[in-house]
Amino acid sequence: MQRPFPDHLLQALAHEFGTPLYVQGLDELPRRVADLGAFDVVRYAMKANSGPEFLDAIRRAGAWVDCVSAGELTRALAAGFEPHQTCFTADLFDRRSLPLVAELGCPVNLGSEDMIEQYAGELARRGVALDGTRGVTLRLNPGFGHGHSTKVNTGGPASKHGIWHTHLDAAVGRVRAAGLEVTGLHMHIGSGTDMQHLLSVCAALASAARRVGPSLRTISAGGGLPVPYREGDPELDLGAYSQAWTDTRDQLAAEFGHALDLEVEPGRYLAAKPAVLLSEVRAVKDVDGMPFVLVDAGFNALCRPMVYGAYHGISIVGRDGAPTRPTMVAGPLCESGDVFTQALGGEPAPRDLPACRVGDLLCLHDTGAYGLSMASTFNSMPIPAEVVVEGNEARLVGE
Ligand SMILES: *Cc1c(COP(=O)(O)O)cnc(C)c1O
Repeated sequence: MQRPFPDHLLQALAHEFGTPLYVQGLDELPRRVADLGAFDVVRYAMKANSGPEFLDAIRRAGAWVDCVSAGELTRALAAGFEPHQTCFTADLFDRRSLPLVAELGCPVNLGSEDMIEQYAGELARRGVALDGTRGVTLRLNPGFGHGHSTKVNTGGPASKHGIWHTHLDAAVGRVRAAGLEVTGLHMHIGSGTDMQHLLSVCAALASAARRVGPSLRTISAGGGLPVPYREGDPELDLGAYSQAWTDTRDQLAAEFGHALDLEVEPGRYLAAKPAVLLSEVRAVKDVDGMPFVLVDAGFNALCRPMVYGAYHGISIVGRDGAPTRPTMVAGPLCESGDVFTQALGGEPAPRDLPACRVGDLLCLHDTGAYGLSMASTFNSMPIPAEVVVEGNEARLVGE
């Protein structure tokens, strides 16, 4: 497994900053944003990686951000985004987000009907005229969804996300009755899905857009663009994906008689790679004939294998090319599920790895999305530090 950073750099970073340590490369970001250039707005779903350095690089690459909490909005503003370059997307307003969103006047994407009157009421309290000129986006659940795990399937009858598609007309009526207008429509059916499901959203969004009518100014394809985690996994055909969406936009624009902005909302696609989580091997033991490698990073640092049975490539610095054998890799936590080599449901999924020793550096690959942003302090572990690598420079991210 090819590491995305030179070994001497990884060794130096581990030595200087200790482990576990997230290392995130920024150099590919402008190209990844540019690859989505057929979309009018690339709106980065910042929950994938909300570190200040990464957000700054996203802003410099020309993308905007999607925020799902007051905390994310605050981070986005601190990273230099203007309120109009943010968007608050959620299925509820908690008591922090509602006043903040109204105060900023940032775009809002409403995923539940109750949010309509709450938002209008908060605006009215602040003296904003509810004369039908202020727009909102509605997030629709099209009745189907798909993701790399059922936990990140965000559409269909079992999903809490979005306004159920058969309630669209009623929701539009409520928005207008509240003195607002529906100017955007959005669907996001899941994370790490596939081309077939991504494309089925086009048709669902187009038919919903026709029901709302020409008050629409913006349509959003949502995110969910997959990245290859295993060697041999295919790359998404961005050309075909972009074409399907620009065709949908252009068709609706022709019908409505005015231009529409097309947004895309990737998280993982922009953040997942190049990145690694560096850890140090602290114990190596044999359990009934199976080698177990225990490292100082656990699911407190990277929870995706534990939560989703997600696969992350694993390599050991300085051991490339050595003979391999099935090996389990686990962390330091007092919890039997603290294992990186597991499949969905917790089944052991040993990985072919070279033999290694205490003190070796073990890399978990492609950890830039939903890695650090999902870290916890379980077992009173510290949240890992993060280093960003840009050009020849590596900087520790300071909060
Ligand atoms: C999480 C999320 C995304 C990003 O999903 P990815 O799979 O990382 O692209 C986009 N939009 C919304 C509303 C989300 O909740």
